[in-house]
Amino acid sequence: MKAIRRFTVRTVLPEPLRQLEELVLNLRWSWHHETLDLFSAVDPALWEAVRHDPVRLLGEVAPERLERLAEDRRFLRRLQDTADDLREYLTAPRWYQSRFGGDEREPGPACIAYFSPEYGITAALPQYSGGLGILAGDHLKTASDLGVPILGVGLLYRHGYFSQSLSPDGWQLERYPPIDPNGLPLTLLRERDGTPVRVRIGLPKGKSLQAQVWIAQVGRVPQLLLDSDVEENEPLARDVTDRLYGGGGDHRLLQEMLLGIGGVRAIRAYCRITGHAEPEVFHTNEGHAGFLGLERIRELVSDAGLTFDEALEATRAGTVFTTHTPVPAGIDRFPRDLVARYFGGTNETEQVPLERVLALGAEDYPGGDRTVFNMAVMGMRLAQRVNGVSRLHGRVSREMFGGLWGGFDTPEVPIGSITNGVHAGTWVAREVLEFTARELPAVLESGRGWEGVRDVSAAEIWRMRRMLRHRLVTDARRRLRESWRQRGASEAETSWIDDALDPDVLTIGFARRVPSYKRLTLMLSDQDRLRSLLLHPERPVQIVIAGKAHPADEGGKRLIQDIVRFAGSEDVRHRIVFLPDYDMALGQLMVQGCDVWMNNPLRPLEACGTSGMKAALNGGLNLSIRDGWWDEWYDGQNGWAIPSADGLAAPDRRDELEAAALYELIEDHVSVTFYDRDSAGLPRRWLEMVKHTIATLGPKVLATRMLRDYVEDLYVPAAASERAMVAVEFAGARALAAWKRRVRDAWPRVAVEHVESKGEESPQVGARLSVRVVADLGGLEPGDVAVEAVYGPVDDSDTLVDPSRLELEYDGPAEDGKVRYAGEVPLGRSGAFGYSVRVVPDHPLLSGRAEMGLVALPPAPQGMTNGDLR
Ligand SMILES: *Cc1c(COP(=O)(O)O)cnc(C)c1O
Repeated sequence: MKAIRRFTVRTVLPEPLRQLEELVLNLRWSWHHETLDLFSAVDPALWEAVRHDPVRLLGEVAPERLERLAEDRRFLRRLQDTADDLREYLTAPRWYQSRFGGDEREPGPACIAYFSPEYGITAALPQYSGGLGILAGDHLKTASDLGVPILGVGLLYRHGYFSQSLSPDGWQLERYPPIDPNGLPLTLLRERDGTPVRVRIGLPKGKSLQAQVWIAQVGRVPQLLLDSDVEENEPLARDVTDRLYGGGGDHRLLQEMLLGIGGVRAIRAYCRITGHAEPEVFHTNEGHAGFLGLERIRELVSDAGLTFDEALEATRAGTVFTTHTPVPAGIDRFPRDLVARYFGGTNETEQVPLERVLALGAEDYPGGDRTVFNMAVMGMRLAQRVNGVSRLHGRVSREMFGGLWGGFDTPEVPIGSITNGVHAGTWVAREVLEFTARELPAVLESGRGWEGVRDVSAAEIWRMRRMLRHRLVTDARRRLRESWRQRGASEAETSWIDDALDPDVLTIGFARRVPSYKRLTLMLSDQDRLRSLLLHPERPVQIVIAGKAHPADEGGKRLIQDIVRFAGSEDVRHRIVFLPDYDMALGQLMVQGCDVWMNNPLRPLEACGTSGMKAALNGGLNLSIRDGWWDEWYDGQNGWAIPSADGLAAPDRRDELEAAALYELIEDHVSVTFYDRDSAGLPRRWLEMVKHTIATLGPKVLATRMLRDYVEDLYVPAAASERAMVAVEFAGARALAAWKRRVRDAWPRVAVEHVESKGEESPQVGARLSVRVVADLGGLEPGDVAVEAVYGPVDDSDTLVDPSRLELEYDGPAEDGKVRYAGEVPLGRSGAFGYSVRVVPDHPLLSGRAEMGLVALPPAPQGMTNGDLR
């Protein structure tokens, strides 16, 4: 018989063991090995059986065992030490406190709210599907380690993301095991009188959606997770948070309304009840949470009496938006009518008119689709600061979203980049961390001293690498056996698995989600060629593969099936394996155990990629297309770059060329270096590359570097902008909104009337070009604009390449109410040179002069002069 309702009964711990609960409830254990050791000591066999899940451990441990531990003096001492260590970790000042402590002029933001639809904290909390969630998890953990006052906001999915298995013929099967929040390290947010908090958001037809709020404690960082599975909701509404990125259309939109609007309300409740500082900065991790801006506008209009435009300025100033993908399918777009249905009718509020909502998500630029509502576009309009996640991705995003800043050339589109990083405590093998702590104590703490790795003995590193590879092989065999048994193979049919993979063979890892741009099956392009690499008599290669296809992606499932079928062939099955159910636990095993981390996306569609960074920190070498982070940091010594044929239009031909290059690299370079041994059996050249990788990439790929960049480049400036808007009853926001309206109204009349320059008759390097301009400001004041000369080298079509800017000086009035500007442009280098001038809006509360997308240029080609400089 099936149970109609399931729940988890929590163990009551004997008094002396009470602190165990405190330790379990703080997810710091997910990256703190001493705490994990303590859990293991509770019952080592059970710890393995529950797959290192401490809540399950405490739920299933026998009461007699607990009674015994409650009298075990050594265990109790250890428990006390571990609990003390956690308390110290939670309260002692860390990087953020020393960076901002005491500096009155520039206090850091008191709180930063970080919104993400998914979080990868630990395999025991399956609330992530891929890179976006893992990054969010690493962001929170690192914030905790650095003492950055972040408050995370997300949804709690009752079925999380699916767990993957295979059918007998290699087709992906999905299971959604239910999650009981009472069986997770979460506590319910309650009012002071004990009643659970309800967050409510309005729906059409006078209905509403309610949610309770779970708190996960990620070290020092609280994380609020909204959960719609409460009795007050109708059955459909209860299912809003049933699974990650569930369904399409309505379901997805409701999830995002709950995350954005409900998320802000959950923060307000949490701060009111606990006294936690209110956020000054809101960080939107991708477009899904974008509605948070609408809710903050509504609050300001209704509580502070601002107009929509004033509230918009105040909201934008404190908002940071991070875009994560250049793949169109990865960007949330809803039918415009659907959004109108949910934000209009009886659900429309006076403070946030539907027409304003729709305008924020409109693709009203050339090439846009007028029938959609684009969440990324709204995110950018609601945030004064926007970034991509690697240098190349920043460039691609400026191109992709440039339409929002109409008048500006791509390089000036105000989208920056902060390259992702990874959380060492989570991804680096414990033995490597301990080894590092022993050999190079300062390394992980300070981010300095990485060069010291070059002095470590090659034999030691090799021993470590072999140990990690060996562990991967052992665990891979177990997983393989389990998978084959589950697919229906008999014990006799799986006996070959005892010898599958070899702990001394060059091991290549490939694990990722399976959207088509990641090209899971590129390695199968020439199966005979691949076979010969795997079966090479002296220099064999083995490949470990994992990855989940999105449940609705039949194409992706077919790719997995192709790989599974190839890997099942009798001649190669001991050298190439597909391990089902890629999650954080399998990810950790693979990035630690593989010698080479392979990545072959279609450039430039991989925004950053982080799994290769995890491999690098463990002493793995990357073999990758120059995309995302690898485009930035590949240096010729730290791995191999697969040449990309990204200019090529024909996709099949491109695949063929890139696959051929991949095979050649593996055969002629990767495996030759790996198997080139000295008299002691060590691959000297390989180990040099490993050391070089750790020494040079180590400090860059750490999430501590990433988070400091976010703090310094985005959070602190955003907080400053926010304060400037809010101070003195929102005087800044009111002034900026009024000024923007005035500028927008006047702009059609703003013009560069006349440009003349002196000094181009015999131009020489070192000389100056004197530029004079007459401009019509259309009724604006000189203080409202900046007039700039833009100059530098030009290409054959007279386009300025990587130009410099010089602000011209106001030079008094001209006739008919016009104004003069002048300046001296330096001729700094020889060759074809050109310049132009422009008028742009300028105000101290703008984040930059491109912010409004407005620019007035001279009538072509009048302002342009070319000359050959000598
Ligand atoms: C790191 C990681 C990812 C993201 O890796 P990419 O290189 O961006 O594909 C996805 N899933 C898991 C389980 C990971 O550990």
